[in-house]
Amino acid sequence: PDNANLDWKKGPCRFCGVGCGILVGTENGKAVAVKGDPNSSVNKGLLCVKGYHQIMCIQSKDRLETALVKKNGKYVETPLNEALDLVASKMKESIAQNGKDSVAMYTSGQSTIPEGYIASKFMKGAIGTNNLDCNARLCMASAVTGFLTSFGADEPMGCYEDIDHADYFVTWGNNMAEMHPVLFSRMLEQKAKRGAKIIDFATRTTRSSTASDKSILFEPQTDLAVANAICYEIIQNGWVNKSFVEKHCSFSKGLTNIGYGLEDNFQFTDKPEKIDFEAYKEFLKDYSPEKVAKYSKVSVKDIKYLAAIYGDPNKKVVSYWCMGMNQHTRGTWINNLVYNIHLLTGKISQPGNGPFSLTGQPSACGTAREVGTFTHKLPHGVVMNEKDREMAAKIWKVPVERIPSKPTYHATEMFRAVDRGDINFIWVQATNPLVSLPKTSRYRPAMEKKSCFVVVSDVFPTPTTDVADVILPAAWHIEKGGLYGNSERRTQYWQKMVDAPGEATADTWMFIEVAKRMGFEDLFPYSKENHVEEIYNEYRQFHEGAKHGMAPLEVLQKESGAIWPYVDGKSTQWRYNAQYDPACSNGEDFHFYGKPDGKAVIWQRPFEEAPEKPDQEYPFWLNTGRVVEHWHTGSMTRRIPVLHQAMPNGYVEFHPDDAKSLGIRNGENIKITSRRGSCTLPASINERGLPTKGQVFVPFFDENMLINDVTLDSFCPISKEPDYKKCAVKVERA
Ligand code: SF4
Repeated sequence: PDNANLDWKKGPCRFCGVGCGILVGTENGKAVAVKGDPNSSVNKGLLCVKGYHQIMCIQSKDRLETALVKKNGKYVETPLNEALDLVASKMKESIAQNGKDSVAMYTSGQSTIPEGYIASKFMKGAIGTNNLDCNARLCMASAVTGFLTSFGADEPMGCYEDIDHADYFVTWGNNMAEMHPVLFSRMLEQKAKRGAKIIDFATRTTRSSTASDKSILFEPQTDLAVANAICYEIIQNGWVNKSFVEKHCSFSKGLTNIGYGLEDNFQFTDKPEKIDFEAYKEFLKDYSPEKVAKYSKVSVKDIKYLAAIYGDPNKKVVSYWCMGMNQHTRGTWINNLVYNIHLLTGKISQPGNGPFSLTGQPSACGTAREVGTFTHKLPHGVVMNEKDREMAAKIWKVPVERIPSKPTYHATEMFRAVDRGDINFIWVQATNPLVSLPKTSRYRPAMEKKSCFVVVSDVFPTPTTDVADVILPAAWHIEKGGLYGNSERRTQYWQKMVDAPGEATADTWMFIEVAKRMGFEDLFPYSKENHVEEIYNEYRQFHEGAKHGMAPLEVLQKESGAIWPYVDGKSTQWRYNAQYDPACSNGEDFHFYGKPDGKAVIWQRPFEEAPEKPDQEYPFWLNTGRVVEHWHTGSMTRRIPVLHQAMPNGYVEFHPDDAKSLGIRNGENIKITSRRGSCTLPASINERGLPTKGQVFVPFFDENMLINDVTLDSFCPISKEPDYKKCAVKVERA
């Protein structure tokens, strides 16, 4: 189209947690073009291949445009109002027969802030159950518990501007070239301009590795040991920033051998204990580079090289990670251990120096973490805290007793409860758990059971809508207004740009309509036209003050987002540093005010083995992940012709030596089998990525090749985030 004649509106990209600013060009009520927003400080006009092509998915011929209700095993088109009547009556029936905790909602880090907020208010404030969790549990829950245990407050302290200042970027199990491509491009720009260096520390060679200055490979799970070895070296070489550590850090250890969450109703409560620097130093004796090199497969020289980067007082270092560290049975621990490195050296909360946990989804921070669409969360607080419940009750105008004080089901346990018959109604929204959950071989039959009434709202048919009793047609991103919060604490607003087809409707509005039908109309007094803005203004009341103030709507309407804490008309780019953060109040240069004593915690966390390792019967590690062309389960990007053509199906990557010894050729169909299930995919040798010997890698976007039938539903006992990166499989020609 002729760009000059289009009406351009700003918003965030629909896809990843980078949160690039986009401009959408509309003409005659249709979205016809997308370009990067040059005013966005996130991407400065650049987008990745998904970003540029995103609007093509909404033109897909199989859009869900009407509600579908299953009758006698067949889906029947039904007016939306009638479908919402049915949803409300089924929810009421389940509550009347089996109590409030028999209904559940499973939402998404792709939901907007108003959607997440209304989901929380509906479930916790209106119905009075904590049966609300979301798919962000599968991707960044370990980052949350890592932040909370180390700093007492969630989300990164730094921002993307760190890229412009750092001398080194160390990526921990993180293929940023494909998963956070625009940030990786910014890093490459700094490499070209000022010689900044990228060090890729991973279990497989990827596009990120080949673009890096150095690639260091480690044996799966041993990142725990290598991180400890780096701290050992920092102490041995006198690289500890003593005054920083003395003033701003304390030391603790927690329980060890804490299990893997493999059994239903797994419970775990940590018992942290204060220790001192000497005890911590003593603990690290088991992690000398020489000892760790033996099982991590990282050479002594490379461990010392990593330690020297962090230890050099004249070099600024940012560490980046995402699923590689979070999807880990010791996910909280490995987050803590990378914080330890930055705390020991004092390289934190300064431009170009800091640990930075990236998110996968566009609003994993804004919606899942800040609104709090987790079983234990409330907007701003947690259900276990009386003051937080009181605050929610006051803003929501509900009796405080209605908000239960105990968390119920996290994501994996929620679907186990469906399987056991403990949940009789579930509403899944903007996510596709029957492709994305680990061990779908258990949870697909669970969702098909008659004991649970399943409602799914989505934009397109998916394997999850296939098991629904009611399918609700959802509006896509630009067909509704909303707000997202990206990885750097940036909140971004967009207005509705085009109409949704047929009866497709914003999820927020469908929640509100069902809540009204259940007798809660007084709690949801929003107008259909302005509900996004009205809800955001209500939600902002949860986050007032210097530690978490959110920008007013008028600012977000004009700017390409603002970073919280937003104080006195200004984003706070580096938290806990008195030079930048007005919430620091201890009179020192740094103040970790999330902790009662104002000190960040350096944690003693050991290396522990993965729950399942390759053995004689299942001799390969299986690692799963993503590719640049596709967004998560592919429900949107596989409907974008150019992306689908570029990456039409799943595959299994082999190391050439393994392929040779097994006699496997490129493209040949291979059956991958674990103790849970199997999946058949074409072999890929020396193409996209290169696993280390003894390891295979499979991307999970292809619903026709469900690798999550094979993966293990073990999780970090603290965060409850599953480990998709490690289980044992055998491979054979199909
Ligand atoms: Fe969208 Fe992420 Fe690509 Fe940016 S990097 S354009 S946010 S998918």
